[in-house]
Amino acid sequence: MALEKKLEAVFDLDGEPLVLGGRLDRLDRLDRQPEGGLEIVDYKTGRRETADAYLLKRDLATIIYSLVVLRRYPGASVAGVRYVLLRRAMDVAVSLTEEEMDAGLEHLRRIAREIKASRDFPALANPLCPWCEIQIKGQCPIYVDYPLPMPGQPEPPEE
Ligand code: SF4
Repeated sequence: MALEKKLEAVFDLDGEPLVLGGRLDRLDRLDRQPEGGLEIVDYKTGRRETADAYLLKRDLATIIYSLVVLRRYPGASVAGVRYVLLRRAMDVAVSLTEEEMDAGLEHLRRIAREIKASRDFPALANPLCPWCEIQIKGQCPIYVDYPLPMPGQPEPPEE
């Protein structure tokens, strides 16, 4: 249905907008299944990506993708998110019930409230630094030579 699609949707946060969004690798319409629905496909390229459906179901990406697609395609049902683990040649499909999506949205609202209440945002080096737009633009105050590859470069060998 669509490849590499940036999607956003606006939710309510105590009367103010809460914008959720992300870049979907793929969005498929499951016409072949009797119940139909939209399936979000996310490609994972790392060697150590989890295949644990319990964890993937609770991943913020699963919650955000599902909420945003549901909001942007009213009337459609979201069949779930399929994580394709390319290095492990396997995929894991997870889906959220309506109640789980509601609980996920409340969880995101709690996070947003905590962020709004914070006044200090110290930069904290983490494994995602090589992909951080702030760092790529040369604006991170602490990023110097984080020992992880930049996108497109080979990962370090397994120990
Ligand atoms: S590169 Fe800097 S700003 Fe970006 S995530 Fe890392 S520490 Fe934070």
